[in-house]
Amino acid sequence: MLPDAAAIREMALAAGFDDAGCAVARRLDAEARFMDEWVDAGLAGEMTYLERNRDLRYDIRLLVPEAQTVVVCLLSYAHSGRDYHRAVKSRLYELKAALLAKYGEQLFHPEKQHIFCDSAPVLERRWAVEAGLGFIGLNHQFIHPTLGSLVHPGELVLQVSVAGALTAVQTANQCGECRRCIDACPRNALGHPVWDARRCIAYETHKCLVCQQNCPYNAGLL
Ligand code: SF4
Ligand code: SF4
Repeated sequence: MLPDAAAIREMALAAGFDDAGCAVARRLDAEARFMDEWVDAGLAGEMTYLERNRDLRYDIRLLVPEAQTVVVCLLSYAHSGRDYHRAVKSRLYELKAALLAKYGEQLFHPEKQHIFCDSAPVLERRWAVEAGLGFIGLNHQFIHPTLGSLVHPGELVLQVSVAGALTAVQTANQCGECRRCIDACPRNALGHPVWDARRCIAYETHKCLVCQQNCPYNAGLL
């Protein structure tokens, strides 16, 4: 017996996540084209690590052999505390333990890492979109319809296909007429039409939340 996407989401919520979804593991071709153009145009600034491991970054099946499903779990800032890596990873391990107890070893590659949180060349925001959890806003952030952009993603990679996993989700941004983040950015880093990391304060110091503070999707959450 294998779980379906709905069952995995329920188990992720039971492990303490705020939302979760499943995506079919594949090469992210459109994202690869976009990232290549963005990096090659020099907009990534000194994030030279983006120039390395491109193939692994674009195709998770090269990172985790036999990967079939990417389970994307979201933890809101409100529940993550000071150490979000620890908060996300502990819940991913809890989810893994629950899946192992119910469905056995068949779900996971016996040797390869299958838990990720900001720790490997995984396009986490794109996988969150692929799993049907939200969209990429004009502020360059992943935005969940009710949790806003104030979420930390974590992934669990399975070596089995699950019913209900989504594929090639292309959710257009749902910013509508809003341009608040673009207008509020003190460095004019947004809207060129993409994010220019060379101008962004957060990329330099991690201490700017202006675009997120001005986003209506985050109203009442900060
Ligand atoms: S984090 Fe600050 S500097 Fe960077 S895009 Fe947002 S508002 Fe602009
Ligand atoms: S502030 Fe407005 S334009 Fe910017 S990401 Fe939020 S909804 Fe989109």
